[in-house]
Amino acid sequence: MSNIDGELGAFSLRTNRQIYSASQVVCALPIQATRQLAPNCVGPDLDRYIERDETALGGGLVLCLGVPESEVQPDHRGHRHHQLLQSYEQPLGNGNNMFISVSAPDDFLSAPQGSRSVMISTHCALQEWDRLNPADYLRAKQLATDKLLGFARRVYPNLGACARVIELGTPRTYEKFAGRPLGAIGGARLSMKNSNQNAVPYDLCKPGLWLAGDTTWPGLGTVASILGARHVSEGALVLSRKISARHNRQLSERAPRPQNDAPNMTAPRSCKPFRL
Ligand SMILES: Cc1cc2nc3c(=O)[nH]c(=O)nc-3n(C[C@H](O)[C@H](O)[C@H](O)COP(=O)(O)OP(=O)(O)OC[C@H]3O[C@@H](n4cnc5c(N)ncnc54)[C@H](O)[C@@H]3O)c2cc1C
Repeated sequence: MSNIDGELGAFSLRTNRQIYSASQVVCALPIQATRQLAPNCVGPDLDRYIERDETALGGGLVLCLGVPESEVQPDHRGHRHHQLLQSYEQPLGNGNNMFISVSAPDDFLSAPQGSRSVMISTHCALQEWDRLNPADYLRAKQLATDKLLGFARRVYPNLGACARVIELGTPRTYEKFAGRPLGAIGGARLSMKNSNQNAVPYDLCKPGLWLAGDTTWPGLGTVASILGARHVSEGALVLSRKISARHNRQLSERAPRPQNDAPNMTAPRSCKPFRL
């Protein structure tokens, strides 16, 4: 998607290949990306929220491994998901707190038989990855990889010893491959100032252009994003019904009145419903 324009009932969405029309649009991108894509449909209301949350954006690191099954065999009573905290004294992020998720033994979509995929994720500050030159970027990636792997070996002592895949995703990865401005992930860090009643609402743009995703209420994370999407779909359906009803009313008002004795030829079923 490279541009969204238009208005309720007549939006146009431009992609690299073609232009689509839509009566309503749900834009499930970070709000910063929506502002770039739909400059004619957003205004100062959205800007205010973007500016407010500028300093609350955060990043993530994810270490993706493909390893022989033997590296994740230690018995953890069947648990394949672990949450680690290294030190209560140190700030969170950069491996001090992290998740480890190992694919199930029969999950051959994630890894072939005899292997497992392992994801290790943690938070990080965006500034630490911003403006690094290529050599420093590679060095920073290697340091982060070693650090995360070292911490994860508390759970799986041989993890990564004979890894077939080992790739680190950084804020630059999320910027490049997921189109997230600055590589920020997970929405704004929550505080009293930007959560619940103060969170970003769905209807800040032109009517019919809805905001969804982790930068809107209730925010952060996959479950919250799904809940937000449910609210938005309900709102879009209500709007769609209202437009249909108004359109049908207009059509029946415009239709010729039946003659006194003539049969009624303008039954409601002759009105084509407004298609959304
Ligand atoms: C390392 C890491 C660990 C995480 N851990 C957790 C966790 O444990 N629990 C949890 O709840 N959440 C976690 N999250 C956060 C969670 O993944 C996100 O909050 C959630 O995915 C947000 O969903 P979304 O639909 O708002 O955005 P996204 O998942 O970013 O989806 C937006 C989609 O839009 C696409 N897109 C972008 N630009 C365009 C464009 N111009 N045109 C068309 N398509 C476009 C992108 O490719 C993407 O597919 C984690 C995130 C990361 C990065």
